Amino acid sequence: MGESELLRDVRRVVNQTIGDSDVLIFVVDGKDGLSPIDQEIARMLRRSDRPVILVVNKIDHDKHSNFAIEFDSLGFERNVAISAEHNRGISELIDQIEKLLPSPSESVQAPRSERPLAVAIVGRPNVGKSSLINSIVRNERAIVSELAGTTRDAIDISYEQEVKQFVFIDTAGIRRRSQHSSSVEVFSVMRAERSIRRADVCVLVVDLSSGVTAQDKRIAGLIQEAHKSCIVVLNKWDLFKPKRGEKGAIVERVKEARERLFFLDYGSFLVASALTNQNVDRLFGLIERIRAVAKKRIGTGVLNRLLRAAFAANPPPMRKGKRLKLFYAAQAAGTGDRLQPPEFVLFVNDPASLIEHYKRYLEGKIREAESYEGLPILLRLRPRTEKNNPRS
Ligand code: GDP
Repeated sequence: MGESELLRDVRRVVNQTIGDSDVLIFVVDGKDGLSPIDQEIARMLRRSDRPVILVVNKIDHDKHSNFAIEFDSLGFERNVAISAEHNRGISELIDQIEKLLPSPSESVQAPRSERPLAVAIVGRPNVGKSSLINSIVRNERAIVSELAGTTRDAIDISYEQEVKQFVFIDTAGIRRRSQHSSSVEVFSVMRAERSIRRADVCVLVVDLSSGVTAQDKRIAGLIQEAHKSCIVVLNKWDLFKPKRGEKGAIVERVKEARERLFFLDYGSFLVASALTNQNVDRLFGLIERIRAVAKKRIGTGVLNRLLRAAFAANPPPMRKGKRLKLFYAAQAAGTGDRLQPPEFVLFVNDPASLIEHYKRYLEGKIREAESYEGLPILLRLRPRTEKNNPRS
């Protein structure tokens, strides 16, 4: 790795770290002395608004303490000389860190920035996942870095666009990096499954030119089963060449894809080309919209009125001699930390009486009040007898 390449990587990592930290600990090598990279990092850290502790390491003896002096020129207010190997100066360092850390209540009340959204890019081989990631990260305003701790399943790429932070879970990247691509291919669905579980938003890449295949449907099914937000990218738009006069052909093709992926009907669909970059930037708009929509809530009054009206207009069918009866419903509170799909708790006489068809009907009615595009709707049924229901 050349010096400039190294510097570029260091910059990325430092930028990422600054964003994630309350206190920055800048470690330099006291034995090696001040390097140009130290000076560059110092410049970046000074520009951030976070407190910095300069730690001069490898000061193994008192007689080495003059090694630390040259680092004073970096201009940090707080300096500690330590020897990590010989455990010197560590308690002083811990004291300094403790003084600078915000109290727990402070950090709860004033979250500095939203937690990065985890976005999994999934799809069968050759649909263009790698190309899509490349197209995204080519954007020059972005700061991109491969995160440490990356698993065997996917490479995590930290990405910052303006002030928004994302982590892309790149299942294709592994294949790029692996020498045994064929064995990795075999496990592509399995890898997708784990990446989907970790994600806040799943981007399912489908090849528009070949249409939705059985394997696409399998991966789509995993997203639906995991109750994850979803954007379906119909990629390779550039290859789609409708004949003259076929104006609505692309609309027709999207409709077809939606029909084949009917169980992901809540998903947002985007036609794009990773090769020509067409529409790739719109992906961020869709992700942001999902983030915003996930925060929307339906008031309890509105929710109960709309569900009662839905039950009255189309009563649930009898099942094993019983008919589903609704007493009361409320939207569950989110934890506020992760992006969560909207969840509604319905107190009913007999949860087992809810058939799939009716569930979809109720979801549809909820979506008339709030479309929640891109997000699944979770209905949780709880048993309650008429007698002990205070609100019936
Ligand atoms: P992955 O296996 O899903 O990561 O797919 P790749 O990104 O490796 O793409 C597979 C092939 O499709 C490569 O030859 C790409 O150049 C090509 N490809 C990817 N996206 C597009 C696109 O939008 N248009 C066209 N024409 N080709 C694409």
